[in-house]
Amino acid sequence: MDYLPLFFDLKKKPCLIVGGGTIATRKARLLHKAQAKIDVVAPDIDKELLEIVNDSGGEYFCDTYASQYLSSKVLVISATDINSVNEAVARDCHARHLPVNVVDNPAICSVIMPAIIDRDPIIIGVTSGGEAPVLARRVRTQLESMIPGRYGELGRIASEFRSLVKSTFASEDERRRFWEAVLNGDIAEKILAGESDQAKVLIQKKIDAKECDSGGEVYLVGAGPGDPDLLTFKALRLMQKAEVVLYDRLVSPPILDMVRRDAERIYVGKKRDKHAVPQQQINQMLVDFALEGKRVLRLKGGDPFIFGRGGEEIDLLAENNIPFQVVPGITAASGCASYSGIPLTHRDHSQSVRFITGHLKAGETDYPWPEFVNDQQTLVFYMGLARLPIICQKLIEHGKDENTPAALIEKGTLPNQRVHIANLKDLPEYIADKDIHAPTLLIIGSVVSLHKRLHWYKKHSADD
Ligand code: SAH
Repeated sequence: MDYLPLFFDLKKKPCLIVGGGTIATRKARLLHKAQAKIDVVAPDIDKELLEIVNDSGGEYFCDTYASQYLSSKVLVISATDINSVNEAVARDCHARHLPVNVVDNPAICSVIMPAIIDRDPIIIGVTSGGEAPVLARRVRTQLESMIPGRYGELGRIASEFRSLVKSTFASEDERRRFWEAVLNGDIAEKILAGESDQAKVLIQKKIDAKECDSGGEVYLVGAGPGDPDLLTFKALRLMQKAEVVLYDRLVSPPILDMVRRDAERIYVGKKRDKHAVPQQQINQMLVDFALEGKRVLRLKGGDPFIFGRGGEEIDLLAENNIPFQVVPGITAASGCASYSGIPLTHRDHSQSVRFITGHLKAGETDYPWPEFVNDQQTLVFYMGLARLPIICQKLIEHGKDENTPAALIEKGTLPNQRVHIANLKDLPEYIADKDIHAPTLLIIGSVVSLHKRLHWYKKHSADD
């Protein structure tokens, strides 16, 4: 290790920045966040930098650098574009054993600035010691996306309760279990969702009840249409937290791979008319696992509230007072449309879009067809493959133009996506010999004609 990471308490401490330009300003912002008193010496100074200097209680010296400005400082940053000045600053600081950072010149620094992920009071610094700054920034970007923005709030609330927890739970083991339950459970989720006040009430209750273990909870998470890159950050976070996973047929294997390694995986997928696990049994399993104190992930294709029976699953959870949360996912219509270059709405073509299930409950055999024939709308049929010929035929019968373009998107967003395009009249025949595999989505409307303009999709297309 070439550097030892230490965190510097700069509150009200005098620091010096040599230089008054953009880079100096960037460094000053950081020092200001750390509440340092900032002096600047430079012949010119940016407006924002001057404001920071004044606000920090420091002083601006309109001058060229001279070593006298180092006196009584605890940290010096040299941010000029004149090498000889930077080198003089470094030399003078080294002679005084004064920590010095020279921007973009690690060789003459005694301290270097890391890339910072700020979730105050959690602060993370990342550095490559100047060896690979692009890589270090990349790590920062990855951490930024993995660590929710409200982590800082979580830290502040934990610190508020710290002494009370210490006096309530005598043993270190109990305290550790208490904090793990809070940080892994619905209390932390509430804080991350911006409901800090409610979370504090729950923490207080937990302390009053001297309860140090966690209760179960359920995450109803939309996994999107298949491409793992379409998962939300929240989905990914909960996938890595859950101990039991109940997943559907539509959840693609690469997505399942992102679930916590040691989680128990249970397949509850259904095929049309063949319910592998009856819905009521799934609902009950969610409740039972949660009552055992488990964190349960119900992972569903697309969005849980769009033809996902998410509403039914949370009913029973609510009845049993089990904490749960629902995480939206990218629904098949959005995913398939984007990945096949078909905008669902367009000012010149379609002012509304309708999501329709092609799989009706037994007994309900018909749709309000006349409502579907208006040309200014896009129709999206989910689960429509089996009834595709009937759908096309009925639309034409009710007055929809038989030349209306229609697209059948097979395995949308997945590497083997195929897009089959024809008009309403010809589509059933056109796909008859195409050996189509589920899942498929049917998009009908003049927006489908736009796919030709957005040709980047062609690498996925089967039809030209
Ligand atoms: N909740 C899901 C829909 C579940 S219904 C969502 O929001 O997307 C299942 C139907 O969704 C399938 O029959 C199919 O019509 C559609 N579907 C889901 N994923 C798909 C995909 N990758 N490509 C095409 N259609 C898909």
